[in-house]
Amino acid sequence: MSVYGLLFDYEYCTNCGSCQVSCQEEHDYPVGKTGIKVFTDGPWKIDDEFWNFNHWPIVTDLCDLCADRTAEGREPICVHHCLSNIITYGTVEELSKELEVKPKQFLVIPQFNPNATRGEFVSRGSRHVSAAADVQGTGAATYATHRHDTKIGELDENEGTIF
Ligand code: SF4
Ligand code: SF4
Repeated sequence: MSVYGLLFDYEYCTNCGSCQVSCQEEHDYPVGKTGIKVFTDGPWKIDDEFWNFNHWPIVTDLCDLCADRTAEGREPICVHHCLSNIITYGTVEELSKELEVKPKQFLVIPQFNPNATRGEFVSRGSRHVSAAADVQGTGAATYATHRHDTKIGELDENEGTIF
């Protein structure tokens, strides 16, 4: 079974907020709850010519990879509405190949957490629940998973294990 994720080319994220708003509306999440949130590093001046200013869209435990949409062959709503077209949905195998060809990207395998959806804001699907242990080795791709026990590591090409 393939494991799906999101690839973010954060070099071109403008912090427009379209991904967050569309995610909240798609899932009927209330104010303050979302499947994706943008964090900012900067701005601070590097020298007279350059500034450090990066935006990082990060998925939360409420990201179910838009299970209802993707089950119908449609792309996640944040991918559809990203104004800079920097989010790609696909299998980890496909996305890790893209990850290797350009810096300032990251690949995320969301861990939808039903416990986090208790209350009135229950999400409509959970078909894409995935775990780091399910990932098969596809090369020396780095990855990050969003779980309560957040892990960051590498995939071993030969063993398909995490170290
Ligand atoms: S894939 Fe769907 S659930 Fe996940 S952050 Fe994007 S819009 Fe939200
Ligand atoms: S919609 Fe795209 S460009 Fe806008 S904040 Fe989200 S990831 Fe960044």
